[in-house]
Amino acid sequence: MLALVLTAPQKLELQELPCPQPGPEEVLIKVTACGVCGTDLHLFNGEGGAFASQYPLIMGHEFAGTVSRTGQAVHDLKPGDRVCVDPNLYCGCCEPCRSGFVQFCEHMTGYGTTAPGGFAEYCCVNQRSVYKIPDQLCLDHAALAEPVACCLHGLDRSALKPGNSVLLIGFGPIGNILSQLAGQAGASRLAVIEPLAEKREQARRLGADLVLDPFTQDPAAELATFGPVNTVIDCAGKPGTMAQAVSLASRGATVMLFGLGQAKDELVLHPYTDIFQKELTLTGSFINPLVTRRVINLLARDRIDLEQVITDRISLSDAIPVFTDSRFRRRGKILLCPAGLPRPGSL
Ligand SMILES: [Zn+2]
Ligand SMILES: [Zn+2]
Repeated sequence: MLALVLTAPQKLELQELPCPQPGPEEVLIKVTACGVCGTDLHLFNGEGGAFASQYPLIMGHEFAGTVSRTGQAVHDLKPGDRVCVDPNLYCGCCEPCRSGFVQFCEHMTGYGTTAPGGFAEYCCVNQRSVYKIPDQLCLDHAALAEPVACCLHGLDRSALKPGNSVLLIGFGPIGNILSQLAGQAGASRLAVIEPLAEKREQARRLGADLVLDPFTQDPAAELATFGPVNTVIDCAGKPGTMAQAVSLASRGATVMLFGLGQAKDELVLHPYTDIFQKELTLTGSFINPLVTRRVINLLARDRIDLEQVITDRISLSDAIPVFTDSRFRRRGKILLCPAGLPRPGSL
């Protein structure tokens, strides 16, 4: 099979590898589409993601495809089934798993981060991480169940109530998905802060009520006329945007830090003005524990417009520039299509 292999930091190669054989509890998936995520770019640069990785690594943790073979202990899946993957395989035995905090599993396998992932024609995945999808859900969209699941867990953590107004900082694919989920959850009004013009335009198209350029506009002054924001979500993960999220939150608001920062980052808080006087709730969100079925339900009913999120579909053999050419950073979600590009109009 053809696979995109990270052999060392910033060294990505297309390799012809033997097709993996599924173990007793695994299914072999023929990958139709696999999303490229910020985590993959961190891994490519050798910065690590949520988990420590080793080389060589086949990245890609946002994927869907069809079951090609199954191990002997697999009963509920069969060849031909259309499936998507929750790339985090929880052990089910450790204390966090047994306490209902599977995202903190002490023996986690991460397809595409610690185990071979979806930037390949085939990938073996434990049956516990594989979800059958309904016929009306296309595989391109099902591939994005993982980032949507991360966003859904983030939204759960933000405790958004119907009627709340929301401020999103950063409108890349994650900000875009979160804005749509916030709409589904009953957000009344949405403000967006985003430095790139094309992404601001996208926020306007999706119905944001206030869209701000942080370099030419003063968000605090603009939000003063917009009215209180009850939920602030930072999708940028920079120390400056996190501090901005805290300072722009209205009294009684929840600030959810979603964007992945770095271990060395520090955030200055003013307990008197930020926490005491404003009664802020400050929270975070780590991966996507057991929300994949809810996401499939939403995607199957077309509740999230993923065509607003996906900007490029690229074959595996043309994929290396996605990581090496910085112009791709301005794009939205990029899908790698190991089984070939879809025909126009076939979605
Ligand atoms: Zn991801
Ligand atoms: Zn565990």
